Amino acid sequence: MTIHSTDIPISTFESAMEQFDEAAALLNLDPGLLEVIKRPRRSIILELPVTLDNGTLRLFKGFRVQHSIIRGPGKGGIRYHPSVTLDEIQALAAWMTFKCATVGIPFGGAKGGVICDPKTMSKGELERLTRRYTAELMDVIGPERDIPAPDVNTDEQVMAWVMDTYSMHERRTETGIVTGKPVFMGGSLGRREATGRGVELCVLAMAAHLGLPIDGLRVAVQGFGNVGSVAASLLAADGCRIVAVEDVNGAIADPKGLNMEGLLGHSRQTGSVAGYSGGEALKRGEVLTCDCDVLIPAALENVITRSNAPKIQAKFIAEGANGPTTPAADKILAERGIPIIPDILCNAGGVTVSYFEWVQDRIGYFWDEDEVNRRLALIMNRSFADVLNTSLEYKTTLRVAAFMLAIRRVSETILARGLYA
Ligand code: NAD
Repeated sequence: MTIHSTDIPISTFESAMEQFDEAAALLNLDPGLLEVIKRPRRSIILELPVTLDNGTLRLFKGFRVQHSIIRGPGKGGIRYHPSVTLDEIQALAAWMTFKCATVGIPFGGAKGGVICDPKTMSKGELERLTRRYTAELMDVIGPERDIPAPDVNTDEQVMAWVMDTYSMHERRTETGIVTGKPVFMGGSLGRREATGRGVELCVLAMAAHLGLPIDGLRVAVQGFGNVGSVAASLLAADGCRIVAVEDVNGAIADPKGLNMEGLLGHSRQTGSVAGYSGGEALKRGEVLTCDCDVLIPAALENVITRSNAPKIQAKFIAEGANGPTTPAADKILAERGIPIIPDILCNAGGVTVSYFEWVQDRIGYFWDEDEVNRRLALIMNRSFADVLNTSLEYKTTLRVAAFMLAIRRVSETILARGLYA
């Protein structure tokens, strides 16, 4: 793998596969079978013509990668961003395969993306792009084939357009084609909070394992969006002290614990935690290395690096974001004995409730929020225990253990189904 002068990997897919290779080495599996599990099953590249509001025609490049459909339909979001690449989408699709297998839900892994800058596009242009993207994928997506969801810069509205386009082609309303839909058109209660709630459950389970009392547990959070703000609020309600929070505009800290209601209100009003009067401002990046018991990176990938990993003071890390720790930082933290609850376990609450949404769409009966949360807790707690026990048995990090579990589950399905030649 080629490495920048920093330790941020050039190929996201190769980086994801480094984690895969480390886990695979501990399993006694045929190297050919491992290649089958590793490589994306299908990578589709699309040229999407869209008429812009000014009447000109523009071609957008889009992708859909189905990394695996062996344990069930592909599952994964659609990302709209100027820097989307096929390599990144392949890595994200692979992570979805291993995430779904880690928590034992019956999905494969997929991901989609379009190279575009939604901030410069009108709502009409985004709708036409989304509909053309969906129409081009009619043969490969579907509730039994591949189920998209929101990702960076796509939301409930984009999912509603995907669902409508698919339904118009099928000549019937098909809610199970996407997850992350508005609740009034087949979405699930509890989906918005699900990823943060899953992070909370993992933090509680890890603290219990390490014998750390929850009351007063000092938590630092990077990212105060959907994942970070929900995890922080739930942990505060459990008795933890949220000692530092950072978002894209600034960071705020209080060793006695920030008032979550006040901070949420400020962030809703101003769009950021910066400038909140109930704490001291911190410099950018200081949240990651501040004095705390638990660090939750819940913003971006590759933020915990070779340079800040030696300074991290947390007793453990809970990865709310996807890929926040570089492979080099991972090794440093393992040597320092700081456990990391890996992304493919820690943030799997979101895809788990997406699975519940798909189940509810298919049976046409919708659960109340308590039922969703109860089932989510069952799956997260069971998965945490599975990963922890594997790591204790093989004396590995939790990340390697999660990949081992996932690879084993994918491989046993391939072996039982056999290769169709
Ligand atoms: P979001 O857009 O709601 O929030 C992102 C937060 O990160 C914002 O508070 C933003 O200000 C902050 N941020 C952005 N750049 C930053 C920077 N340079 N420094 C500090 N903070 C910065 O996104 P989200 O849905 O909460 O997702 C966060 C992460 O969790 C992403 O990695 C995402 O892939 C991952 N994730 C999300 C879900 C989900 O269900 N939303 C599920 C699994 C994984």
